[in-house]
Formats: sequence, C-alpha cells, structure tokens
Amino acid sequence: MAELRILDQPTRTPNDGRAKVLEPMVAQLASGLEKLGLAMKSRTWRREGRPGFGPLQRQILTLLRSKPGRTAQVSMIANELIVRLPTASEAVATLERKRLVRRRRTSRDGRVVTVELTARGLQACGPSAGKPDHLARAIETLAKGEQASLLKVLVKVIRTLQEQGEISVARMCVSCRYFHPNHHVDPDRPHHCAYVNAPFGDASLRLDCLEYEAATADQARNAWAVFAGDRAGVS
Ligand code: SF4
Repeated sequence: MAELRILDQPTRTPNDGRAKVLEPMVAQLASGLEKLGLAMKSRTWRREGRPGFGPLQRQILTLLRSKPGRTAQVSMIANELIVRLPTASEAVATLERKRLVRRRRTSRDGRVVTVELTARGLQACGPSAGKPDHLARAIETLAKGEQASLLKVLVKVIRTLQEQGEISVARMCVSCRYFHPNHHVDPDRPHHCAYVNAPFGDASLRLDCLEYEAATADQARNAWAVFAGDRAGVS
C-alpha cells in the first residue's frame, strides 16, 4: 500500500521555469510515451545513423512522398517539419548527394528551390522501408478495439501537439475538409469521408492521408468539437 500511495502522489515537472503539478495518471502516461519515443529514437539512430540517413532526412522523404507530384519547396519542407531553413537545406543537400531527391531552381531569380523525390528516394521511404517492426509487432498484440482506441487517442495527442507548434502538420482526418465526425448513427462507422463518400470508424482514422485537403479554421474547429465529444455530430 505504501507503494500505491507513492504512485498516487501528484508529480512535479518543470514548466517554463515553474514546477507544474501533474495528476499521477497523466505523469505515468507522459512517462510511458517518453519511453516509447526514446526507444524509437535510439533504434532509428542505431539503424539509420550508419550511412548518414537520419530521422530528419527520413521525414523529408516521407513528406515528399505525400505531396502531389512528390515535390515541395524547401521553405515548405522547413515550415511543415518545423525546422530552420538552413537545416532543411542541409538535409536536402545530403539526400541529393545520395540521389534520393533532386533539386531544381524554379523562380526567375533562382531563389525558389523545389525538391523532387527520385525513384530511389521513393523506394527508400516505401511502406515497408525502415518501419519499426518491433513496434508494429507490439501493437499487433492488442485487440482490434484497443488498437482503434489507441489510434483515436494518438490522433488527439498529435492534434494538440500540432496546435502547440511542437510537431509538424500531419495530414490527418481531424483537420481535413472531407472529414465529418460522428455523422452516422452506426457506432462502428460513425465518421464520414466526403472524398470517398463513405462511412468509417475510429480504426480507419488516417494520420497521413494522400487525399487530405486542409479544412478552413472554422471547419476544423467545428469538426474537432464533434470528434472530441464536446458537441453532438448526428442531427
Ligand atoms: S480524405 Fe483522407 S484525411 Fe480526409 S477525411 Fe478522407 S480519409 Fe480522412
């Protein structure tokens, strides 16, 4: 019981120079996610560090793969991945040396640089390339309902981190113009995707959809209120 009492104690954590008290459950969950992040990062570095193929380069390849024509301007890459322009330029230059992307100057004065994914780059960031199999295997041990719940929770956490500017913009359903949350009465498939004009459930929520188109700020705010349960969705 003594141990349980310790676990129930609120945890203090630094926050902008001031200590913030966290609920025990919040502290445990944050700690668990932090451990996962550390495990992923160390695996990624161990695997990818050898040929200089680091996490930022992988993120750039994945971002390009999601873009129409598999191209993007360097400034857009820096903006979406929340890194400085010189950092993005350096990573792109490294990728070009490896023939994973090619750069083109597209403005008359040569200041706008467009980056294009090469066939070799596409292969390097394909669906099976570099996937953390150990993580996928751990997730596969969860029941289908648990997987759907986890996905929904992750969407919520990622969306909040995006709002705080902590992580890059993801092409997620919750901020997509085609997303109509809790639109149907079917509890298994309550959401509606207007792009494919079909209902779907939490298990099919997308975190990186190629058909994604950003909603207006009002649309996204309303959809979020319905998705998060603050407002009814089915009229
Ligand atoms: S287009 Fe993609 S991101 Fe948008 S609602 Fe449909 S599945 Fe979700």
